[in-house]
Amino acid sequence: MTARPLLPIAEVPPEAAHRVALLRGLNPGELLVHEVYLSIQGESTFAGLPCVFVRLTVCSQRCSWCDSPHAFNQGERMARPLVVERVTSFGCPLVELTGGEPLLQPEVFPLMSELCDSGKTVLLETSGAHDIAPVDPRVHIIMDLKCPDSGESHRNLWSNLDVLKPTDQIKFVIASRRDWDWAAAAIREHKLDERFTCLVSGVFGEVKPVELVGWLLAADLPRVRMQLQMHKYIWDPTARGV
Ligand code: SF4
Repeated sequence: MTARPLLPIAEVPPEAAHRVALLRGLNPGELLVHEVYLSIQGESTFAGLPCVFVRLTVCSQRCSWCDSPHAFNQGERMARPLVVERVTSFGCPLVELTGGEPLLQPEVFPLMSELCDSGKTVLLETSGAHDIAPVDPRVHIIMDLKCPDSGESHRNLWSNLDVLKPTDQIKFVIASRRDWDWAAAAIREHKLDERFTCLVSGVFGEVKPVELVGWLLAADLPRVRMQLQMHKYIWDPTARGV
């Protein structure tokens, strides 16, 4: 049997290599797709708009509060044109690539460009641990900076801040007062609120929205935007595919 070629998977530390092993079984031109579905965009400045979500399988991180662990290893291999066809079939102008971590799959880069070419407004949700430089500049990037209680803040790739565009967005998911203090310090140190849209949201069930509002109002960061994960209030917070 001929061994399948290894695809260039975004740099992953050796201790997390086993988490991306599934991607090594992909053929060139394929993606590992967890689900493609139509819903409402629940976060970012696009919140509230109908949006097609392309959720890709596999993540090299394990955030303590991750709400999509089902995307770590469940997925179907799909050729890139089929993903475009599936997205197009919904007739919705907004599409988001999410995961998992989309940037682990090399085919996501041409996929995003093809979706832009077809006239879609394309959003990318990424963990902030991988290089965003190869992303098509037409894509709106929503990048996490992981706070300490996620357990993954050591993986933040700070050089990405030099690549983000003023139209991109940085998201902090806050699990505790310690996380908030960390986020506020990072925003001030890197002047993030002057350079990008900064979003903060509380981990559902762990930080009450009213608590986070209090911290934000006391912090004198008037450009930072609080958001609720809208889909968790519309549907059951554990519901998938919404
Ligand atoms: S980066 Fe995203 S998908 Fe990966 S573990 Fe963290 S929250 Fe989950």
